[in-house]
Formats: sequence, structure tokens, C-alpha cells
Amino acid sequence: MYRNDICSYTYSELQGAVKNLGEKPFRAKQIYEWLHVKLAEDFDEMTNLSKAFRDRLSDQYEIPKMKLVKRQISKKDGTEKYLFELGDDNLVESVLMRYSYGNSVCISSQAGCRMGCKFCASTIGGLARNLRTSEMLGQVYRIQKLIGERVSNIVVMGTGEPLDNYDNFLKFVHMASDEHGLHISQRNITASTCGIVPNMQRLAEEGLQITLALSLHGSSQEKRRRLMPVADKYSLTEVLGACDYYFRKTGRRVTFEYSLVEGVNDTDEDAKELIRMLQGRNCHINLIPVNPVRERDFKKPERKKILVFKNKLEHHKINVTIRRERGSDIDGACGQLRRRYITSKKEN
Ligand code: SAH
Repeated sequence: MYRNDICSYTYSELQGAVKNLGEKPFRAKQIYEWLHVKLAEDFDEMTNLSKAFRDRLSDQYEIPKMKLVKRQISKKDGTEKYLFELGDDNLVESVLMRYSYGNSVCISSQAGCRMGCKFCASTIGGLARNLRTSEMLGQVYRIQKLIGERVSNIVVMGTGEPLDNYDNFLKFVHMASDEHGLHISQRNITASTCGIVPNMQRLAEEGLQITLALSLHGSSQEKRRRLMPVADKYSLTEVLGACDYYFRKTGRRVTFEYSLVEGVNDTDEDAKELIRMLQGRNCHINLIPVNPVRERDFKKPERKKILVFKNKLEHHKINVTIRRERGSDIDGACGQLRRRYITSKKEN
């Protein structure tokens, strides 16, 4: 029999389900707490519910399984990478980064990706499927359990395009910040998009407080188009317009991500174009030295060149940071661990 995924139910959906089962309303609070605070992985752990009720729940509902397949810990900075296998054998990758302000987890929003960015490992095999809300939450929950510590920040910057899985992603934001559950402040959640304009506009209207990051990567429409096929569909002008709209509606400063690729988007001309584009915008730009991917032929610029690029932007009063390279000894770039695992399975 098909069982519904109870971990993707919001608090109010769960209240409705409990009512339909003829149970008292406070049971919803107990179950939600078991699933989203105590991180139960089986109904039998819910010891304050009767055995009969637990059996009825497990007849009708499932708690999706996530099997840890691989865990890599960086010797350099304590960053950890995880590979989880979902109920249907699909794989997802997540990363834990330890900062002075707390633990930050980078989660995937899809198994694979169909956006086709030229430098990215996640998109090489295409999109397998969207992740359910519970599978996005599950990555954070499993990591919390494994390390025995709380996670305080979430970045949706792993494999996949969150705005290509809009409904499940939106529910994820609501559930991760729900006071009955994980209760992470929306201000501590960042989602990165390649620039799906209509869904950026929708997101701006949801009344959320999350940070939006835009993958910019090109200093002009033409340059962006060479790296990101999505730019054929939505022009740079439209994408920047959607960022401005997000800022107007939410008051949240947009972050621009710019992966620096040697000889492709790291020239003086690029810096000038970027300055022209971003000057006067209330924003922040994060320079990411491109992570070389086995299947791709992109190199990161020399450190000196990256610093010169940064200084040029700073000179024009643009907020700029260089992303610290974390976990470079453990398949650094997103999607590489999953990619390597899939490839090695095929080769064997
Ligand atoms: N689909 C979302 C999330 C992708 S991953 C998006 O496009 O924004 C998060 C960031 O890492 C994106 O900016 C992405 O373009 C970047 N990225 C992907 N592969 C990379 C690589 N090999 N080196 C540097 N940055 C990379």
C-alpha cells in the first residue's frame, strides 16, 4: 500500500491528519516534535503514543529513509561531506561547515540538475528527480544526529536548482523555520539560484526573510550565456530586475556569486563591467575561485589575480568577499562526491 510521507507535512497539515484519524489535537504536537525536534526515524520511537496508534500511523504513513553511504572529514578545516542514499537509490550530497558563529549545512534541492552550467559537476548527468521537502529537511536532521550538535545556518547551494523545485523548496523554508520544529531563523537560510526570473519574483512575494543569492558568473549577457544556458531564457537585465524586486519586497540584500574562471571571466574588462553593473546596488558579491571539475577544463586564476580583481571592486565601494575554500581535500566542488560515486559504480 502507498504510504504518505509524514515528514513532508507542515504542522497544520499534520493537525488535519491527526484530526482525520480521530485523535486529540495535542497528538499532532507530539508527533511533529518526534519528527522534527527529536528526529525520530521510526514510529516505534514515539513512546508517548499508544502502540495501537503507532501501528495505525505506520500503516498509513512512512518516515522516509536516508542511508549514509559516505562521510568524509577534511583534515584541513573540519568540513564534512556526506553522501546519502534515498529510498529509491538516488543519491544526494550535503556539506557541514563549522564556523565561529555556528554550524552551517549546505543541502541539495534536487538529485542532479538540468540547468547545464558549464563549470558545475552536479549537472553532468542531468536531473534525476526533485527532492521532497522531507528529503531536504532530512539532510539537516541526519547531520545534526551524526555530529550531536545543532545546526544554526542552512544554505541551499548543493546539487540542484531550488527554484526549479519551487513548491517543495518553499515548504522546506516554512518547515525549517517553524517554531514547532527545527526553528532556524529565516535570516539564517540562504538559497542560491541560477536566475529563474518568474520564480524569483514569486519568492519575493512570499513574505520570507531568507537571503537570496544569484549565480551571476558573467559580467555581461554574452559572457553569462557562455557559462550558463539558463541565460538564453532570461536575460541579464531581467535577472537583475528580479534581484532588485526581491530587495524592494523583502528588504534583504541580495548576494551575487561570481565563480572566477581563468581567462574566461577574470579580466580587467570583466571587473569594469561588474563595477558598472553593481555600483549603487545594495548588494554583496562573493568571488568563488572556480573549483576544477574532473570532466571540465576550467582553471582558477592565481591568488594574486583574484586579489587584484577584488581590490578593483572594493575601490568602487562594492561589498566583496572571496569565498574561503573549504574541504578542498574532500572533493571540494558541489556535486563532485555524488558524481564520483555514480561514475565509480558504473565502472565497477
Ligand atoms: N542551482 C543553484 C545552486 C547551485 S550551487 C545556483 O545555480 O545558484 C551553488 C553555487 O556554486 C552556484 O553559484 C554555482 O554556480 C557554483 N558552482 C557550481 N560549480 C562550481 C565550481 N566547480 N566552482 C565554483 N563554483 C561552482
